[in-house]
Amino acid sequence: MIYKVDIKTISRVDFKDITRRVNEIVAKSGVINGICYIYVPHTTAGVMINEHADPDVVRDIEAQLDAMVPQHSGYRHREGNSPAHIKATLIGDSETLFVEEGRLVLGTWQGIFFAEFDGPRSRHIFIKITSD
Ligand code: ZN
Repeated sequence: MIYKVDIKTISRVDFKDITRRVNEIVAKSGVINGICYIYVPHTTAGVMINEHADPDVVRDIEAQLDAMVPQHSGYRHREGNSPAHIKATLIGDSETLFVEEGRLVLGTWQGIFFAEFDGPRSRHIFIKITSD
């Protein structure tokens, strides 16, 4: 089965730490050892794993994505949100994690972030957990 998790973002760019929510889905699934797949079905949002101990890391990632992908650069896409599409492509739309003893296997400083680039919006992610 696939779990659908609703996510509300509150600003144009918004990195939401979803680590706890994903761990709650893992617990609900009853899977003790296996694989957790996270998929973002949006074209202007993504998912990434990075440091969630120091919030400045995510702020630096946001600032450098802005520097790499300017807000105005002669984009052709008429909707006007090409920077969001490009940033979502750079970040990626899925992650695969191990599940051991009923918990996600993550490094000490790692967290899972939903990365919004064209908010605020009501979003969702899909999660599938398979057992060994
Ligand atoms: Zn668009």
